Amino acid sequence: MSHSKLASIFNKDEKKVDWHDKALWFVRHKRDKSVHEVKGWEELRNLGHGIKAHMLSNLDVYLQEFEANANKNGIEVHWAADAEEHNQIVLKILKENNAKKVVKSKSMLTEECHLNPYLEADGIEVIDTDLGERIVQLAKEPPSHIVLPAIHKNRHEVDELFQEHLGTKPCDGDPQYLTGEARKHLRQKFIEADAALTGVNFAIAETGGFVVCTNEGNADMGAHLAPVHIACMGVEKIIPRQEHLGVFLRLLARSATGQPITTYSSHFKKPADGKKMHIIIVDNGRSEQLARPDFRASLHCIRCGACMNTCPIYRRSGGHSYDATIPGPIGSILSPGKDLKKYSTLPFASTLCGSCSDVCPVKIDIHTQLYKWRQIITKETPQPFIKKKSMEIMGQVFAKPSQFEKVGKIARWSLRTLPKSLINSKPNAWGKARDLPLGPKESFDDWYKKREANKDKKD
Ligand code: SF4
Repeated sequence: MSHSKLASIFNKDEKKVDWHDKALWFVRHKRDKSVHEVKGWEELRNLGHGIKAHMLSNLDVYLQEFEANANKNGIEVHWAADAEEHNQIVLKILKENNAKKVVKSKSMLTEECHLNPYLEADGIEVIDTDLGERIVQLAKEPPSHIVLPAIHKNRHEVDELFQEHLGTKPCDGDPQYLTGEARKHLRQKFIEADAALTGVNFAIAETGGFVVCTNEGNADMGAHLAPVHIACMGVEKIIPRQEHLGVFLRLLARSATGQPITTYSSHFKKPADGKKMHIIIVDNGRSEQLARPDFRASLHCIRCGACMNTCPIYRRSGGHSYDATIPGPIGSILSPGKDLKKYSTLPFASTLCGSCSDVCPVKIDIHTQLYKWRQIITKETPQPFIKKKSMEIMGQVFAKPSQFEKVGKIARWSLRTLPKSLINSKPNAWGKARDLPLGPKESFDDWYKKREANKDKKD
């Protein structure tokens, strides 16, 4: 289904759209306040951009350096070309360790690989331990945001979900009670787990260690208690040196939630005595994206979610309307690289206002890349007949000033004279949610000429 059709489903609940918009704008506002407190913020962004660009140009070198150092530390490194191979490796490790119960902290990569249903089909219990992720897991929904996975659910919906699945008492959406109950429920799962799965925010080539950032400490609870820790990372998560971490840790939390630093930035370097640590390095289409010069910078992304929080379309259409693992502006660049036809409407789900590029901590030219995808999609995928024809006609009109003038006159007259029911009829998608302004009597050109003539007279 197209983005606009899915968005119209979300838009049916106006109240929800309103608080979704406000909640994300609140986070964007917190981000602004927080970054303005950092002297040299722009310099930090440039540094982040530069380190990532350097890393991508030397990806093979740093990945191999990481593997060698991780092996030295006692971490077993695995390579997966795609999602299927990644899932197979995870299952194999779990089977080898006779693990039936797994606790998993937030990892967009495992979402991308659809790991949970894959493991569940083999009788393995997978519990998402990030609170937002657990909420959407109970609701049998995918996350709608990469940092705030359940941002589309209000506390009353969570109250009902918990009553149904965790047997809690009705509490009128009391957040304190609900988080307390979630804590009790999750602690039990941590204690019972045979293995812990985590994502990776940054993997350091120089040391062979990696960092996982969470605000709830759930990755640490899982990894410290379970005898086996499996960490899953995309190839682009590598950074060259330990000293580069400071740049990204400062950029990440401020851009994501406006915090100076994520509550837990945990460094994992080697397994504890008697325990095992595995890391799976996954490509799954990233090399192809790297080979597209116009889009390779999308691999700089550190998954802070800032572009989503600021995007006027995302805030009003909800993450599920993108029907992709990574929604919002950056997802609209990454997804067409995976399936151009399926995701052909996503790059058009943008006003191209450039706000996403303005807030991106690693300076990805997001709106430029969205515009580039539009050009490719228009050429390579079938477009609706009406859209294609109207664009052709518009192109002809814009190419000839005399025609533009004539059409402008008719349009201004129509907007002033015709009934609204006709102007906002079905073919005018724009009129679905808004009124067009009353057409002025004269064109800008006429107004400007008159103004200039009057100026001359005064002089
Ligand atoms: S593209 Fe930039 S702003 Fe968007 S999630 Fe990635 S790093 Fe954050």
